[in-house]
Amino acid sequence: MEIREIIVAEHAGFCFGVKRAVDGITAALEGAEGRPVGDRPSVWSIGMPIHNQGEVARLCGMGLHIADDADGVPDGARVFIRAHGESLAVIQALRDRGAEVSDMTCPFVRRAQDYAAEFSSPSVGYHVVLLGDVRHPEIRSIIGHVEDDEARGRIDVVSGVEDALNLPDDSVARRVALISQTTQREGLLAAVASALVLRTKELHVCNTICRATVDRQNAVRRLAGRVDGLVVIGGRESANTAKLSDIGAEAGMDVLRIEDVGELDWGWLSGKHRIGIAAGASTPQGLITELRNKIARS
Ligand code: SF4
Repeated sequence: MEIREIIVAEHAGFCFGVKRAVDGITAALEGAEGRPVGDRPSVWSIGMPIHNQGEVARLCGMGLHIADDADGVPDGARVFIRAHGESLAVIQALRDRGAEVSDMTCPFVRRAQDYAAEFSSPSVGYHVVLLGDVRHPEIRSIIGHVEDDEARGRIDVVSGVEDALNLPDDSVARRVALISQTTQREGLLAAVASALVLRTKELHVCNTICRATVDRQNAVRRLAGRVDGLVVIGGRESANTAKLSDIGAEAGMDVLRIEDVGELDWGWLSGKHRIGIAAGASTPQGLITELRNKIARS
């Protein structure tokens, strides 16, 4: 098989928020903060720190421990809050047990958390509609930053236009604030906003999709017509990687989605001469380079 050209998308791999979290954890594990070995607390994360198995394995190999919740963390540990953020209740539970909390919530996720808290607060009183995946940790952290129970009851999560149209009239009739998960698609946010604007007296749209997401999605669109096939590499749980794959397919590209270089499908590559590579925001640069080299050797 002869590959003549490999084009890596203009924006691919670690975004600002993921890099900041990984660098912070790595520095703590290396003891780069100047503490003597005996004084260093064990280093923990609540949930996988990023959606990439290889990178998580690397950090765990350096000594990172992963707990499912605050109860799983020993007293006095150093705990990293990942870029997706965490609920206020979990952060408080960690502090109550003497954990040293290093909050790596991405500032763009923080913005969405702040909007949700502000618009749903009893004094402002909007019904908040979150566009995103209800099971995703980022959506759970955004809801978890609303302290008041009644205010939390004024939040709905929708995955698209159909969900928005199915929201009960009495929830959305008056004032709605639409907030997006940071990794959603701009077109979908606009479509949901259009669906809601006709159902409510007042709609406030907070475009909380982050720049890294928009750049990676547009970079995939620009590969259309230039490649015979697109390999999208990133974690299976990674929402932004899944969207890159969908966008590539919608743009007419033959897409192969993989998590690891070992999953490269030689049969799929056969007969293709120009290959595009796209990578989610939690894919390390080393993995992209390894993939590029492996395709080049084929
Ligand atoms: S994808 Fe965007 S919001 Fe999420 S961590 Fe990266 S920069 Fe932050």
